[in-house]
Amino acid sequence: MKPWSDKLRKVVPYTPGEQPVNTEIIKLNTNENPYPPAPGVKKALNSLDDRRLRLYPDTTAKPLVDALAAYYHLGQDQIFTGVGSDDVLAIAFMTFFNSDKPIFFPDITYSFYPVWTDLFRIPYETKALDDNFKIIKEDYYENNGGVIFPNPNAPTSYYEEISLVEDIICHNRNVIVIIDEAYIDYSGESALKLIDKYDNLLVVQTFSKSRSMAGMRIGYAMGNKELIKAMNDVKFSYNSYTMNLPSIESGIEAVNDEAYFKHNIDKILKTRTSTVAQLSQLGFEFPEPGGNFVFATHPEHRAKELFVALREKNIYVRYFDMPRIDDYLRITIGTDKEMKILMDAIKEICSNPT
Ligand SMILES: *Cc1c(COP(=O)(O)O)cnc(C)c1O
Repeated sequence: MKPWSDKLRKVVPYTPGEQPVNTEIIKLNTNENPYPPAPGVKKALNSLDDRRLRLYPDTTAKPLVDALAAYYHLGQDQIFTGVGSDDVLAIAFMTFFNSDKPIFFPDITYSFYPVWTDLFRIPYETKALDDNFKIIKEDYYENNGGVIFPNPNAPTSYYEEISLVEDIICHNRNVIVIIDEAYIDYSGESALKLIDKYDNLLVVQTFSKSRSMAGMRIGYAMGNKELIKAMNDVKFSYNSYTMNLPSIESGIEAVNDEAYFKHNIDKILKTRTSTVAQLSQLGFEFPEPGGNFVFATHPEHRAKELFVALREKNIYVRYFDMPRIDDYLRITIGTDKEMKILMDAIKEICSNPT
């Protein structure tokens, strides 16, 4: 013990999926997009005038906000940007979850939420998903200090219908409800269409998955202008220059290339369909996937053993050693070729008696 030990903030940090240095591996463990970003992204990066790097970037990433506002038909004052949606979510937690009452989120969900509640000292209560990993909406009608859940959920990939989302929002008009839509582009309807109807709704999205730009760290929140203003006030009290110039400039290109975006999503959805069919044929069970990943379990083969055996073959998937989900693998949808290698590996592992 050092004399200053008791002055340290003690937190158990979030554990991100591995980012191995070896590029030979098949990486299906962090839900990245297997395809490159829109071609304009590379052009924007290549043509960026280095003299512009002398200057601080725009504090609100205004050029990117303008592009997003035009894309979603929103006002610039309805969009907040941050360094990945993790940054946006952390600021949203600080801005909106300041009650003595606990905030609510599902027991099985994005494992960063309990880390932020711990870091920011926000009381919370988890609400158990049902046996099919579905939200029981009535659980969220109790008095609380705020609500957050991803839709589709992570790591289950299950998408909840917009009517359920709306029911939860309208039963919580006196707190802020955050819908984390990191995977909505692979799924059904976004809650975005509800932000004018409900002033307590914040929708958070990211460029990391469907727009193939995890490395640029771009996330954003959309809501009514009072919520966005409150988030900007917190951000400017903490770090005003967050998003860097290359991210702002290249992000605009990704937003403006709708045809490429649609094509990219279509390819992944096609591969998801064939992956689901092949996994079923191999005897795996899983909630219907709404994201670019499948959350699969096998009645005869233990997930942990599969995880280890796949890793030995340089195929990385995600395994969570946590209650209720410790016999599941979260498998990102890669290219068709990657999924074929994965299926062949699973067949080989499952046919070898251990
Ligand atoms: C990936 C992910 C995020 C964070 O993504 P960023 O790269 O920080 O934008 C947020 N929420 C969920 C549920 C995710 O899966």
